[in-house]
Amino acid sequence: MSPNAVPTLPLRLGISSCLLGHQVRFDAGHKHSPYITQTLGVYFEFVPFCPEVAIGLGTPRPPIRLVDVDGSIRARGVKDRQQDVTEALIAYGDTVVRQLGSVSGYLLKKGSPSCGMERVKVYDSASGHRLRSTSGIFARTIMQALPDLPIEEEGRLMDPRLRENFVERVFVYHRWRCYRAAGMTPAALVDFHTRHKFSVMAHDEPAYRELGRLVANAGGGDLEAIANQYIRVLMRALTKTATPKQHANVLMHIMGFFKESIASDDKTELLEVIDAYRREQLPLIVPMTLIHHHLRHHPRDYLSAQYYLNPHPRELMLRNRI
Ligand code: SF4
Repeated sequence: MSPNAVPTLPLRLGISSCLLGHQVRFDAGHKHSPYITQTLGVYFEFVPFCPEVAIGLGTPRPPIRLVDVDGSIRARGVKDRQQDVTEALIAYGDTVVRQLGSVSGYLLKKGSPSCGMERVKVYDSASGHRLRSTSGIFARTIMQALPDLPIEEEGRLMDPRLRENFVERVFVYHRWRCYRAAGMTPAALVDFHTRHKFSVMAHDEPAYRELGRLVANAGGGDLEAIANQYIRVLMRALTKTATPKQHANVLMHIMGFFKESIASDDKTELLEVIDAYRREQLPLIVPMTLIHHHLRHHPRDYLSAQYYLNPHPRELMLRNRI
């Protein structure tokens, strides 16, 4: 299937409403993230959910927290310990899962007993002492039901590597949804895989080989099962942050396509830049820019088709800081 036949779906992210500035927090405040609304918002439509408001807790409301009750994590009132909204949050999460077929990622508010992705404090129900940390109840419901969906917390977006990783995953998953919408065929799966080879190689070499084996069987097996397994392995692989060493290995691999056609001083320059990037003396954008330069002068269709070279909009400048 030609990539041109793949439809373009709206690029949507589910999100905790308070991150958009909606005044839905327990204190009637918000946690507006300018980076999300003003930078990511240029490229993404947001689909907001506030589970605590949705289950009728109102705004403002007495706060809730996670407590351990005989080994079971419950969402209970901080003051009114009889108040237990665990089941309501799970039920609402199940409802939202059914609405998330049109989103390509989800951004959660950190630390929330409902929305937190990780490190949400859990207290002992009797003593009130902090015991450990886990995911919020609503977030856990979403993550368990949709393990392939890219999900991240807004706090972690401040880390340049995690931010780039999340946005890359969203775009990969979005392209997958577009391919799916066009109707999956063995040829489409091969095309999708071919264009993401270097991306997955940068994150997880063993997964790269596993995905290759899956795709090789696409023509003769249960395509639906293979496609489901493919995206599961791919999305799990991409959650592993690509290190400078892994990126440098892929860049060297790409350089191999040019080595016969570029002048020896250009080759030396590219090698030096890749090495400086590997030693974290330069950001990834520098060797990538040189690669693009050589690709313009020595076109290679196979390379031009690689999403690794253009994983997300350049204007987001995600590779300028990693
Ligand atoms: S963290 Fe979640 S539950 Fe809390 S205010 Fe934000 S959207 Fe609502």
